[in-house]
Amino acid sequence: MIDIIPIPAFEDNYIWLIRNQAFAAVVDPGDADPVMEYLLQHGLKLTAILITHHHGDHCGGAEELRQYFGCPVYGPRREKIAAVTQTVTENDTVNLPELSAAFQVIDVPGHTLGHVAYYGINSLFCGDTLFACGCGRLFEGTPEQMQNSLAKLAALPDETKVFCAHEYTLDNIRFARIADPGNVALQEREIRERQIRVQGLPTLPSTIALEKSTNPFLRWVDSHLIAAASQFAGHPLSSPASIFAAIRQWKDKLD
Ligand code: ZN
Ligand code: FE
Repeated sequence: MIDIIPIPAFEDNYIWLIRNQAFAAVVDPGDADPVMEYLLQHGLKLTAILITHHHGDHCGGAEELRQYFGCPVYGPRREKIAAVTQTVTENDTVNLPELSAAFQVIDVPGHTLGHVAYYGINSLFCGDTLFACGCGRLFEGTPEQMQNSLAKLAALPDETKVFCAHEYTLDNIRFARIADPGNVALQEREIRERQIRVQGLPTLPSTIALEKSTNPFLRWVDSHLIAAASQFAGHPLSSPASIFAAIRQWKDKLD
């Protein structure tokens, strides 16, 4: 039996810990301390670290954990991350035999140029690429790259659980409501997520189906979003990348 546990870190990061009775793997350990605390408290041996991109809040604790447990550290081939021992890229597989799990690597450039996502056991670990009702900022890539990356994630099975690296959901919904005011699924989601946050619980994981129906950064085919993006841009937009780019600029302007 596999469980996936959120370990809160910093202001609003989640370090995702995949575990069974004896072993664990972690995704994006920006801080070693809370991970170490969980592992020792539960008597688990860390067998792998998976990193999505080079930002410190995602990989800052990897080296300390690697030294303590001697486990491999998987990370993107196109980025320089000191702790990484095995670089990975599109279509590589990360096997975690102790957890009877395997993850397929998906290249998702945009937030950073080498950003990767890990897909397996009906779960997607997407770092700062896809967020609940949002997406990562374009620090290194182009809108075309990010839209293409998000399209790959949107093509995964509807029931895929989406484990994002930050609790940004309510903030993202505030913007989504502005961009997509008539979306009933989004309005219903806001009510549910508010109740979850009032209880202090994570709004994650989400699902690909829920993101496709409510996330303005995946809805470049929706006529309302196309109209709203075109109005923001001041001229008619038709390509998915240009619609995505306008929505991203719009949110950046309001943040
Ligand atoms: Zn980041
Ligand atoms: Fe981050």
